[in-house]
Amino acid sequence: MLYGALEAGGTKMICAVGNEDGQILDQVSIPTSTPEETMPAVIEYFKAKVSPELAEEDRLSALGIACFGPVDVRKNSKTYGNILYTPKIAWRNFPMVKTMKDALNIPVGFDTDVNGSLLGEVTWGCAQGLTDAVYFTIGTGIGMGAMSGGNLIHGMLHPEAGHIAMSVIPGDEYKGHCPSHGACFEGMASGPAIEDRWGKKGSELSENPEVWELEAKYIAQAMTAVIYMLSPQKIILGGGVMSQSQLFPMVRKYVTEYINGYIDTKELRNINSYITPAALNGNQGIMGAIKLAEMAAEE
Ligand code: ADP
Ligand code: ZN
Repeated sequence: MLYGALEAGGTKMICAVGNEDGQILDQVSIPTSTPEETMPAVIEYFKAKVSPELAEEDRLSALGIACFGPVDVRKNSKTYGNILYTPKIAWRNFPMVKTMKDALNIPVGFDTDVNGSLLGEVTWGCAQGLTDAVYFTIGTGIGMGAMSGGNLIHGMLHPEAGHIAMSVIPGDEYKGHCPSHGACFEGMASGPAIEDRWGKKGSELSENPEVWELEAKYIAQAMTAVIYMLSPQKIILGGGVMSQSQLFPMVRKYVTEYINGYIDTKELRNINSYITPAALNGNQGIMGAIKLAEMAAEE
């Protein structure tokens, strides 16, 4: 079976064709500007792959979309499949699912970008066989995808764990970057927060240990909260900031310190494999979208 996969991001739209083994057979990247400019190119890519002139086995049987948010993932909602109140004003209320369904006339699966990445890792990456796991992206924003009991969590809309409150670390004078909450997790630990606090981009601060020490403490605070609330079997950390790989041992150390022996599980005793980078080399999002397509085809 061939599936279409769209990883809709704030800077680029990755369009791909994949199969049931998660293999990516073809891929293009289209810059995200406005819906008027971007979507015709996205549609053109997939439309050629659902043409009735193709043999059936060469046609896409469904499309999966992992989309930047906030998005409406509530199946029974009138605005299901729409992008909601995003800071990217041109995309507010854009009907992503309806647009693609109308253009292609095939089943469309849809979820958040972070749930997509998690689904990729659960299906083909480092979380295979697990029923409870979370995926964080720590980049321009902070977002969490979560699976509980084998189901991707949506709840009343979808989790927004990037905005949980932080206890400000003593000595940190920074007020926080989030326009809604100031010193929430995203406000204190996103890429733009690092740049704003230290006056330089994160990528230029690799040699400053105090930057990553503080960053690791905020990330560990958030991970500790998530461990208490969702009891994941694995925590996967991705996004541009986590390419500072020295963060991983520090985050593990502070999580262990903050939990202070209160939870004793084999997962926490093996913390090096409990808190890990993604295993799919940046393809977790698009591979998750392939899986979303397969799930839509089966529905
Ligand atoms: P996005 O979140 O926009 O999808 P990324 O996950 O790449 O994209 O995150 C971009 C953010 O991560 C920017 O704020 C950038 O400064 C930061 N970033 C990217 N690379 C690094 C790096 N090597 N070290 C620290 N921060 C980085
Ligand atoms: Zn916030």
